[in-house]
Amino acid sequence: MTDLPQAVPNTLRRGACPSLAAPMQTGDGLIVRLRPTAPALTPGDLVALAGLAREHGNGLIEITARGNIQLRGLTDASVPRLAEGLARAGIVPQTGVAIETPPLAGVDLSEIADATPVADALRQAIAAASLALAPKLAIVVDGGGVLSLAGMAADIRLDAVPVAGGAAWCLSAGGDRRTARGIALLPAGGVIDGAMAAVSALALLGPAARGRDLDAAVLAAQFGAASRPAALAAFSNHPLGIHRIGGESVLGVAPAYGQMHAGRLAALAGGLAACGAREFRLAPHRTLLVRGLPEEALAAAQACADREGFWCTDTAPGRAVSICAGAAGCASARFDTHAAADALVAEAGDLLDGSLDVHISGCPKGCAHPARAAVTLCGTAAGVGLVLDGRAGDTPAATLPAGDLKPAIQRLGTLLRARRTEGETAKSLLGRTAPAALVSAYQGQR
Ligand code: SF4
Repeated sequence: MTDLPQAVPNTLRRGACPSLAAPMQTGDGLIVRLRPTAPALTPGDLVALAGLAREHGNGLIEITARGNIQLRGLTDASVPRLAEGLARAGIVPQTGVAIETPPLAGVDLSEIADATPVADALRQAIAAASLALAPKLAIVVDGGGVLSLAGMAADIRLDAVPVAGGAAWCLSAGGDRRTARGIALLPAGGVIDGAMAAVSALALLGPAARGRDLDAAVLAAQFGAASRPAALAAFSNHPLGIHRIGGESVLGVAPAYGQMHAGRLAALAGGLAACGAREFRLAPHRTLLVRGLPEEALAAAQACADREGFWCTDTAPGRAVSICAGAAGCASARFDTHAAADALVAEAGDLLDGSLDVHISGCPKGCAHPARAAVTLCGTAAGVGLVLDGRAGDTPAATLPAGDLKPAIQRLGTLLRARRTEGETAKSLLGRTAPAALVSAYQGQR
């Protein structure tokens, strides 16, 4: 039976992850983040989640960048009832260290190895060791395939590498597949012991230690030169749109900016089930993967997703924009983040090519995108601040009244469009544009 919170739950200290046992206080009440243990959700599961979000929260549901579900607007009294409702619906949230696997692990015929049994064994080994680890510790076990997790940052990574007769696992620390520091190449039979060596080394550094704190060279020396890690391809596909997995078509859909109201989720689940969908999988980039759709129903499924406010192509301009609940759902917000994102897409959608991140945050807390972003618009007491290559809490380069934001976005779009060369990415364009020129355009100065 699922362990349920017994009384008023502890609200969370800053820096940890909100869970059923420790929800986080935000401007619109408590927030709970959960990842079901079952990799596949049925249409009925989604309808049940929507009902619980409406009954116990404010009905606002988010899918995070790492593919977790967040329910917002809960209270101390409603969190235990949510836990009971989840248990009744048979939705069991994962607990313990977050170990991520590709969303199609075990069903993608092109993967090098199924990451699921490795992740399960590692989860058990960590639980058995009773180590004090950082609350936000993230481990990626990536078996490859069409939707690999090459681009997902983690404290510790295990990436499958093809070898004669099967797969070995590349152990690395502190980054995505491109930036993590290699430690060792582990045979399948030694992968758990090898990964546990890195996890134990983290625990020895203290309960706040992260992958970046590990001395990869010292750890690598323990494994010896024979297990030197391999160089790996860093590319990963965006999960939005249609993917061919063997003879199957999998459709990736994402609620606009990662957020939806419960009614939209229930309507999507019902509409896609009528098209033939039988299961849904949470995926990175705030996406839901839909399986079971026959080829001839794909167009109808995309039309249904579009009708309910979901994106379903990998070119949707808003896919690179992270926004928080904003004034529509959070009392701490200083402006309407949704309206700002819509203005950004309308005025500068051609510049949102996915090569850089844009973050629109209702306040400096920066819930939607704790990392740095190329461009951040952040609500403050003085107005909406423009932060370049920074976090929402950084000092803005310029600040405007919220009412002046739309023309400021128009001016920025005009400036950048005029400077863009044929085929140039937004990232390159922004990188060679002086911050002073961006600030002037934002403020409307000549
Ligand atoms: S970042 Fe957004 S959701 Fe988070 S507290 Fe601030 S306004 Fe609320």
